Amino acid sequence: MSFILQGTGVSGGIAIGRAQLASAASLEVSHYTIPHKEIAAEIARYKAAVSATREELEALAASLPADSPAEFGAFLNLHLMILADSNLSEVPCQIIESQHCNAEWALKQQLTALLSQFERIEDAYLRERKADVVQVVERIFKVLMGQKSAQNREQGRILVAHDLSPADVILLKESQYAAFVTDLGGTTSHTAIVARSLNMPCIVGLHNARRLIRDNDLLIIDGSRGAVIVDPDRAVLAEYKLLQDQWELEKQKLKRIRSTRSTTLDGTTIHLHANIELPQDIKQVRDSGAGGIGLFRSEFLFLNRNTLPSEDEQFEFYRQVVLDMKGLPVTIRTLDLGADKHLAGTTRLSANPALGLRAIRLCLAEPQMFRTQLRAILRASHYGRLRILIPMLSSASELNQTLALIAQAKASLDAEDVPYDRGIEVGGMIEVPAAALALPSLMQKLDFLSIGTNDLIQYTLAIDRTDDSVSHLYDPLHPAVLHLVSHVIRSANQAGIPVAVCGEMAGDVELTRMLLGFGLREFSMHPSNLLPVKQQVLKSSIMEITSLTQKMLKTDEPDKIRALLNRLNA
Ligand code: PEP
Ligand code: MG
Repeated sequence: MSFILQGTGVSGGIAIGRAQLASAASLEVSHYTIPHKEIAAEIARYKAAVSATREELEALAASLPADSPAEFGAFLNLHLMILADSNLSEVPCQIIESQHCNAEWALKQQLTALLSQFERIEDAYLRERKADVVQVVERIFKVLMGQKSAQNREQGRILVAHDLSPADVILLKESQYAAFVTDLGGTTSHTAIVARSLNMPCIVGLHNARRLIRDNDLLIIDGSRGAVIVDPDRAVLAEYKLLQDQWELEKQKLKRIRSTRSTTLDGTTIHLHANIELPQDIKQVRDSGAGGIGLFRSEFLFLNRNTLPSEDEQFEFYRQVVLDMKGLPVTIRTLDLGADKHLAGTTRLSANPALGLRAIRLCLAEPQMFRTQLRAILRASHYGRLRILIPMLSSASELNQTLALIAQAKASLDAEDVPYDRGIEVGGMIEVPAAALALPSLMQKLDFLSIGTNDLIQYTLAIDRTDDSVSHLYDPLHPAVLHLVSHVIRSANQAGIPVAVCGEMAGDVELTRMLLGFGLREFSMHPSNLLPVKQQVLKSSIMEITSLTQKMLKTDEPDKIRALLNRLNA
């Protein structure tokens, strides 16, 4: 029976394919039925993964240097014992057999059962062993995922999940899915932001998709309208195939302006830069014709791993990006961990993570981790045009502490004779209302500003950007938001400090003219938005825009603001 589910489209385009259900906890754990005749093979696959995990742990134990601390060996032995226990070596096989499910799903269910047993243990030492069990299970999952056998069915499939974390979504970059949809999630959550960079249609906030859609159902995903059509009839399918071709054609046509200079009709140059999460996003950046990277969300390098990247590892990542950009500016945002992006095994979770130890606050609380990153960025600055961007500044004292740490990192490199760009610029993200309102105290010491509208809206309107139950209140056109954004742009322009917008507003074609009217000359966005925004810039005249945008700022009535925006875009 055909039916439609409505959510919020966060990445446009149309995909047609079969559903693949993912578990609530992790994208890695898909759930599908194993036909009776393939059960034995699935059990064998699970056993092979356990053996491979054992070999991996034994090899690690054998390669430990003689002088390594005794706890390392003890830790690996403990993991081998956990692996050998029938809870992991046998029970999942029984689940595969009794439930006719895939190995990943069986292991996931067994993990959930084990974790709930741990909750009931009173002995603190034993309770802490929970983390070890999780680590061992993750190792088995990784081996299962790495097997390119019948279960690797993702090509052209549509992933249906209850929720995906930003760390989950980043894994999809490597995948062959055609689209993904989730029950939870807001439009400017990091999950949605990364989804856009995947260049695949994506819909969030569907509420019941995971419950109503079955594995293998045929789906049409209309990312622009936020609609999922389940089990479509032939006529609808034919219509959507046509629409899909048209969408592709439009995308191809836009490529023609890739090398066109980005200027308005009245000759003002507008800088269009790209946002990236990982070094491999550079190809998309180059294809978009971006004039630089305005926001490299460096924390994504820290996700999906059990250890922090070392200084050398980070240096290599940053250097690679700078070299790949061939002289164009690259703005590395220092770690913004702590709200919806966490290091594996993090224990410091606050009740309101977005208001807690996040971004620069976390870095100042963990100076060792921050210093490592700063040294790596500084070292990479020797190889191109690199800039440092500090997230979530809210006071001059945070900025002073940060600048002192940067100075220390520079001094340590000087002492070792390591080269770096001595003139490296340091900018601040304006994404907390306090920063927008106390701008002069920050501007005095910053070389540039970048307005993070995603958080500025979240913190101004007191709306959790990851919570879809309040996402209807998330409004970039709210008068308070418009006043703050235009105030920051105007103040920076008056002070002669370069200012960009790097939140999602910068990539929204509907808002391009409004931002130009506010005086913005630098936009940073997902590469997939860059050519549509450029097309809008090429068609716009700043002289004609300004009077309407001034009117937008003079009214506090949402309907009037919307009507003026429509006139601006007519
Ligand atoms: C923002 O807040 O607008 C921003 C660009 O940073 P992030 O989305 O990574 O929080
Ligand atoms: Mg932000």
